Amino acid sequence: MTHEPRFLVDRMLGPLTRYLRLLGYDTGSADSLPPGNPKEDTNLLQWAEREERILLTRDRELAGRAGGRGFYIGEKEILDQLAFLKERGLIDLSVRLIRCSICNSLLEDAPEEEIRGADYAPTGERGPTFRWCPSCRRLYWMGSHTDDIIGRIDTLNQRSE
Ligand SMILES: [Zn+2]
Repeated sequence: MTHEPRFLVDRMLGPLTRYLRLLGYDTGSADSLPPGNPKEDTNLLQWAEREERILLTRDRELAGRAGGRGFYIGEKEILDQLAFLKERGLIDLSVRLIRCSICNSLLEDAPEEEIRGADYAPTGERGPTFRWCPSCRRLYWMGSHTDDIIGRIDTLNQRSE
């Protein structure tokens, strides 16, 4: 893979959006568009085209309209969806804490005052290394939102061995 793929995900696949971001992939979401637009499919196609994103959708017709840029995701379970993408060589299954799962911004080193101000952050001498979203000001660290996800992805990696 010469450069990492970027994705655009439809409204039906919300959890997939969050997982792709936790894996570090630049992932746009239809959820960021105003709801109820009858031309949403066309907007998604244009967005994918403009930013060279791979369109992942639960809508077979929309996937077809996107041509080589679109993938129809028929799997219902998140792990099966990730396995589908991995089998096609689109993603690697390893969590990288580089991107906010909520807003897709790149994470930065967490400022001290943000760590002190977050009552949900673990404390201690040898605390974890914190990453921070400058846009939604959410702290991330290995073991936060990631434990469950890393566990599930490990299961998947073992499954495909
Ligand atoms: Zn964010």
